[in-house]
Amino acid sequence: MVKAVVGANWGDEGKGKITDMLGEKADIIVRFQGGANAGHTIINNYGKFALHTLPSGVFYDHTTSIIGNGVALDIPVLFREIQSIIERGVPMPKILVSDRAQIVMSYHKAFDAYEEERLGGKSFGSTKSGIAPFYSDKYAKIGFQVSELFDDELLREKAARVVEQKNVLLEHLYHKPVMDPDDIYRELKEYKTMIEPYVCDVSAYLHQALKEGREILLEGQLGSLKDPDHGIYPMVTSSSTLAAYGAIGAGIPPYEIKQIITVCKAYSSAVGAGAFVSEIFGEEADELRRRGGDGGEFGATTGRPRRMGWFDCVASKYGCRMQGTTDVAFTVLDVLGYLDEIPVCVGYEIDGEVTTEFPTTHLLEKAKPVLEKLPGWKCDIRGIRNYQDLPENCRKYIEFVEEHIGYPITMISNGPGRKDIIYR
Ligand code: GDP
Repeated sequence: MVKAVVGANWGDEGKGKITDMLGEKADIIVRFQGGANAGHTIINNYGKFALHTLPSGVFYDHTTSIIGNGVALDIPVLFREIQSIIERGVPMPKILVSDRAQIVMSYHKAFDAYEEERLGGKSFGSTKSGIAPFYSDKYAKIGFQVSELFDDELLREKAARVVEQKNVLLEHLYHKPVMDPDDIYRELKEYKTMIEPYVCDVSAYLHQALKEGREILLEGQLGSLKDPDHGIYPMVTSSSTLAAYGAIGAGIPPYEIKQIITVCKAYSSAVGAGAFVSEIFGEEADELRRRGGDGGEFGATTGRPRRMGWFDCVASKYGCRMQGTTDVAFTVLDVLGYLDEIPVCVGYEIDGEVTTEFPTTHLLEKAKPVLEKLPGWKCDIRGIRNYQDLPENCRKYIEFVEEHIGYPITMISNGPGRKDIIYR
């Protein structure tokens, strides 16, 4: 049985916590897309961790953690992350890396930074982790697949071929130092040494696991609105954030994904540029940012302040639909306990007309939020374990959101810890 944990919005919805929690019953946890550009924050009995590449299952000794072929594999980051959790007393996790995953190279990060610099005020707000240049090369068929690390002749030939092309851009577009193919070859050899112990035919491994009836969890990064096809293009990420892509990025049949748990945060936050209809500013935003998440809404990778907004029913309904949601996990609800009234975005006004359908980007940029205000519950709901024990206004907020997005909220997260969950 395969379950996917994915995001409905712009990311940072609390997927790490939900995956960590569901990981208790899972045998295998797979990352299937994205790279080290976003992070999950997880709090458990070992402490607080910000993971960028490792799946959230690494803290359990009964799970196997897998980096699927769809991931942008940053080998030094993976290596450092493994070291850092072991140093803090976590037992060495069982990790497998797909032999078909491709490698983020040092020049991908350099190109990411150069391009943001070139674009200046029109930049994408990239985390400069090399993700866009990495996926560009993958689809231009000049990326390095893990399996290729084991073919010396191929590496030398390909390093020379790639450098020839990259150097034209370095010299004439970015006016930066050119690369030497020998350095790239050496970089690849170092990566081979680091990754060799983990390399595996992941798709075959998962095929066998499915035959044996094991439980597999697919862990998504970012959310629906950052999907390159269905998100707020071009302010999107470079690999699909949708559960459907889990089949491809892990190498399993699509019909095996039986449960799609879409994580929705009780308010909105976003990083990077792009339209954000329910965004708030000033003191109102600062307060929500300060109180948000666990210790404030600041990027797990970059530390930069996140953009804040009210819950957006239009974006979340669409985000849930694109994921193929079977269950919604509604998170970080405890944070809203300080508000007298809680505004919720229930529609978009575009050119004088109100819609509840999420539009394409050029219309989205014109959208103004239609807000409805719900009464707050003005108390701390952390520690509550039964739905009926939540304050009435809190339940009304949940039920209001559920009705507007049209998908069942079956889990409510009221704190960052594993046990802070209410099943409905
Ligand atoms: P992800 O990328 O979707 O995993 O999201 P993040 O790592 O950005 O998680 C959001 C933050 O919220 C993290 O600091 C979590 O520890 C925290 N968090 C998750 N669920 C809850 C919750 O229900 N309540 C509170 N207060 N914090 C939460």
